[in-house]
Amino acid sequence: MAKITRKLSPNKPSPKKTSAKKPPVKTTAAKSKPARPGAAKKSPASKTPKPWTEAEVYEVFSRFRKANPEPKGELEHLNPYTLLVAVVLSAQATDAGVNKATRALFAVADTPQKMLALGEEKVRDYIKTIGLYRNKAKNVIALSEKLIAEFNSEVPRTRAEIESLPGAGRKTANVVLNMAFGEHTMAVDTHVFRVGNRTGMAPGNTPLEVELGLERVIPPEFMLHAHHWLILHGRYTCLARSPRCQLCLINDLCRWPEKTV
Ligand code: SF4
Repeated sequence: MAKITRKLSPNKPSPKKTSAKKPPVKTTAAKSKPARPGAAKKSPASKTPKPWTEAEVYEVFSRFRKANPEPKGELEHLNPYTLLVAVVLSAQATDAGVNKATRALFAVADTPQKMLALGEEKVRDYIKTIGLYRNKAKNVIALSEKLIAEFNSEVPRTRAEIESLPGAGRKTANVVLNMAFGEHTMAVDTHVFRVGNRTGMAPGNTPLEVELGLERVIPPEFMLHAHHWLILHGRYTCLARSPRCQLCLINDLCRWPEKTV
């Protein structure tokens, strides 16, 4: 998978971290819940990042497209059914960890019928290196049963139907609708959540807020691939702990006060 990076100018001085953003002013009101990591911080109006213009958002996705015209997801799959299973298995796990387990699993079970024939115990054995594998094996069997009983063994094409499957939530539906059926959905995982917030393009305290914010600002011509561009950007450039701002191809537009350029 091509990484989305920007070449570092040899003459550029080494970056200095700017001082940390001041926390919001405390009030006497009851303590609120801590925000999710990477969520938009509440800040005084004067510190609110300048909203992105349409032209800036267009520029960002033009750069992503130029750097990687056909971005691909990294979850291995053979058909819409194995994609669905892989996404269900990927909750709180890395794509690489899921792929390691599913290569052997999908070689013997790439349809709901074959998965049922394999049985929950054997599915569990194949996926035991993945976190929460017991529960996930149960879900894989239950969703396979439901696909056979209610959907003619096919992965359904609507959000509500996909979300009705055991183990599948909104993110699963968004990934399947986008990757299997080419719909313009925006699945928000930990990487997209962080990038949406840090850049200031779609700040939000929940994945749904970021999802809706990104859908609002990203032009339709980029929406088919926007999810993968943002995931890859978060996975390889805008890293959680040490973002590679010097190599970032959108560092001039990013609004994060702590960016290191
Ligand atoms: S400049 Fe830094 S913080 Fe902003 S998007 Fe790029 S890597 Fe992330």
